[in-house]
Amino acid sequence: MNLRLSILVILAISLTKLVSSQTEKKPALVVGIVVDQMRFDYIYKYWNRYGNDGFKKLVREGYQCKNLQYNYVPTYTGPGHSSIYTGTTPERHGIVSNDWFDLKLNKSVYCTDDSTVSTVGSSTVSVGKMSPRNLLSTTVGDELRVASNLKSRVYGIALKDRASILPAGHSANAAYWFDGSSGNWVSSTFYLNELPKWLIDYNATQPGMKYLSKPWETLHELSTYTASLPDSTPYETPYKGTKSVKFPYNLPELMTLSGGQNLIRATPFGSTITKEFAIELIKQEKLGKNQSTDMLCVSFSSPDYIGHQFGTDAVETEDTYLRLDLDLAEFLTFLESWVGKEEVLVFLTADHGGATVPAYLMDLKVPGGYMDYRNVETKAKVWLKASTGLDNALVKVTNDQIYLNESAIAKAGKDLNEIEQMLADSLLKLEGIHATCAAYLIQRYEYTQGTRSQIQKGYYAKRSGHVMMTLEPNWMEYHKTGTTHGSPYSYDTRVPMLWYGWKVQHGESAQPYYIDDIAPTVSWMLNIPFPNATSGKPIAIPLKAND
Ligand SMILES: [Zn+2]
Repeated sequence: MNLRLSILVILAISLTKLVSSQTEKKPALVVGIVVDQMRFDYIYKYWNRYGNDGFKKLVREGYQCKNLQYNYVPTYTGPGHSSIYTGTTPERHGIVSNDWFDLKLNKSVYCTDDSTVSTVGSSTVSVGKMSPRNLLSTTVGDELRVASNLKSRVYGIALKDRASILPAGHSANAAYWFDGSSGNWVSSTFYLNELPKWLIDYNATQPGMKYLSKPWETLHELSTYTASLPDSTPYETPYKGTKSVKFPYNLPELMTLSGGQNLIRATPFGSTITKEFAIELIKQEKLGKNQSTDMLCVSFSSPDYIGHQFGTDAVETEDTYLRLDLDLAEFLTFLESWVGKEEVLVFLTADHGGATVPAYLMDLKVPGGYMDYRNVETKAKVWLKASTGLDNALVKVTNDQIYLNESAIAKAGKDLNEIEQMLADSLLKLEGIHATCAAYLIQRYEYTQGTRSQIQKGYYAKRSGHVMMTLEPNWMEYHKTGTTHGSPYSYDTRVPMLWYGWKVQHGESAQPYYIDDIAPTVSWMLNIPFPNATSGKPIAIPLKAND
């Protein structure tokens, strides 16, 4: 070998080394985990009951942000998942709620509705008319796809369509969600025209039936569930067609009463089949075995269904989290055996929290109440009639918002801004209403602090109403059993935030961080652009230095 050639060879080798050491800086796989309705305190409420390889492992070996909050209302699933993965709030990503009223179409629109696409993977027509088209900005996954020139692969998985589609983003390889009618994991023609062969085979095994064919019994002896209220309380909602809220639950019988395999959503086994599917997808698509970083967005939706039905302090909820902890442990163990802890970056958070059942707190003498929105609507119509002379000035009351009839108000020669302000001021007279905002003032950025700034960050003019309101603490629109979420208060806004694996060092932070900080943190770790409408900033997580 002559000298020139040897220099060239040495150069080539060192270049390869440089390139490979650069690519080594990125994890092989990013896994985002969202637990639907998981409050921050659930990490500690059930701490003594968790095993060592699930939540405890994330806390003990990972980095925990103990004060991460949602900074907008409403704290619902669609906006929550969108905000986690886009690094911004509804003000910019446009997913202002799970569904909103479209004044032009004169009907409600679901956040992932898309009439131009169809179901892939089952014959259920409506389940697949879904896509991320209403999401106005890019997700981390979109940025990863573009930055890698589409070499990185991105997938979303969840029982709920919106919890799979919105995280995965627009350019994802696929998002999959559960169709209870067929028992299949399905997608839409937005992503692909047919399911991959492995998934057709997987669906043929009917993965949910294994769990729906036997009763749901508590994981441990019932008397050990001391973090919860007694098994049967007046604060819980029975399954459809039944009256008891006591263990065990006869799932085969409940299935016949409540719409088939969709029952699995409101059992802890919804999380189990989600975990099993996530592992299967990683194996079949060989995620993390690519030259570029792959990403999986997986959401566990069942804790939300169970939280709504039984409340935050039920044995059913505790059992759900104890079982989720086992599923999480199995998932983490799999990820580490698949690519190694140093090659997988995991984060875990929630799309919103959940309120302690107001009826329970009211029994403990805490102020609170249940808002009857029919009464709000009646009162609003009376005020509107008095100030405009119109019977049809109000179009819709939904999601703590009032939509007005702009053209009728204009025809009557009235000033829309004045009407909005009149209504906002009048609503404050009602018991249970805490704050109101007129849309014209939000558009002028009048609100920069407190509850009204949370309303402002959740407002997008083309989809939001004319007057926004929030309720007092411990008030909700609901029934006296079970619970919900959506408020600007910490029980709904404060969620877990755990980072684990790759170069993440152990530690915790009490700093206030916000939900739109997550996506730019992931982008920053991957050295890719922030999602295109990012409003948050990267969280300073201590990382091991590069070699
Ligand atoms: Zn919910």
